[in-house]
Amino acid sequence: MSDRAMGELAPPERLLLGPGPANIHPRVHLALAAPLLGHLDPAFLAIMDDTVTLLRQAFRTQNQLTIPISGTGSAGMEAALCNVLEPGDTIVIGVNGYFGERMSDMASRYGAKVVRVEAPWGTALQPELFEAALRQQASVKVVAVVHAETSTGVLQPLREIAALAKAKGALFLVDTVTSLGGADVRCDDWGIDICYSGTQKCIGAPPGLAPLTLSPQALAVLRARKTKVANWYLDLTLLDKYWGSDRVYHHTAPISMIYSLREALCITLEEGLDARHGRHHRSAAMLRAGLQGMGIQPFVPDSIRANPLTTVVIPAGVDDLAVRKALLNDFSIEIGGGLGPLRGKVWRVGLMGYNSTPRSVFTFLSALEQLLPRHGFKVSPGSGLAAAQHALAT
Ligand SMILES: *Cc1c(COP(=O)(O)O)cnc(C)c1O
Repeated sequence: MSDRAMGELAPPERLLLGPGPANIHPRVHLALAAPLLGHLDPAFLAIMDDTVTLLRQAFRTQNQLTIPISGTGSAGMEAALCNVLEPGDTIVIGVNGYFGERMSDMASRYGAKVVRVEAPWGTALQPELFEAALRQQASVKVVAVVHAETSTGVLQPLREIAALAKAKGALFLVDTVTSLGGADVRCDDWGIDICYSGTQKCIGAPPGLAPLTLSPQALAVLRARKTKVANWYLDLTLLDKYWGSDRVYHHTAPISMIYSLREALCITLEEGLDARHGRHHRSAAMLRAGLQGMGIQPFVPDSIRANPLTTVVIPAGVDDLAVRKALLNDFSIEIGGGLGPLRGKVWRVGLMGYNSTPRSVFTFLSALEQLLPRHGFKVSPGSGLAAAQHALAT
């Protein structure tokens, strides 16, 4: 065995300003270290019930079936799709980024007919295009969109698309992996039937769980299936027997992760959802002002920006990888690179949950101001910080 495999685990401390995971509150770290319980221990069952109650509040829903799926955000996406889709069903999916693309791929694997409504990366999906797509289909089971597209930094307006889905008799499915806890999500008011998220973005827990909620209408569709859910692990008819009153073993719950989610949700709701969204709004405004003060432009307009994730146009001539490497090695700051067509064109800067603070913004801008001149982009010293300070003060 090499020496490297020995000794105490000692990962470096990073400021995680990428597309997730984000740093977590000390209380959440402590929750992870709490004593383990068995997955059917009455004390753990009570913690599960608390978690469900808190999750309903976070999703702003009364939905009975509201649980954390074991697995990351993509498991939530998979659970959302596989439980309501049967072979031959039609699903209309908005695709204006990487995660809409992933949804299309997953839905097609369950034998659904996928109708794509597309928009260029960095723009929002237009309701008119959904209207036209829905008109062309005899019947549609699901209309699906991503709320905050983490590949582009666009926040998708939802209400008009929800109304179009309703009028067609379709379920409305929304990915809120990056928005929940960082931007307003109102499942009941907005008519969202199936909504999933992830723990490591604005909720403020480590990666590993995917909160999911189903409206009574979506539940009725699940109960009326002609075929078994094609994914045993994510089958909500089975999972509901563990999370509901039956308490039948399905798989061993990830105990410590559920502790951490419960604690993160407590912190979120103690702050208050509106206050928390306001904090994410102000942090994003500061970051954008700071970047513009340095002469760097955001990739999406203010009107459709997702506050948890800001995409930044990499200045011409600046080496994407070299700057990100220097941020990590010299300042211990992680940011994200572009995905797909945006690779090498944008940086993705997350200000999520615990990290959405003036401190994160100043730390990042200060590091960037020092690095960019070394990488071929002139910045007048202090220009970004001054603009961010001004934004903070106003
Ligand atoms: C991160 C993310 C996912 C996938 O979540 P994982 O935890 O990486 O599996 C899905 N959708 C969106 C919008 C995301 O940002």
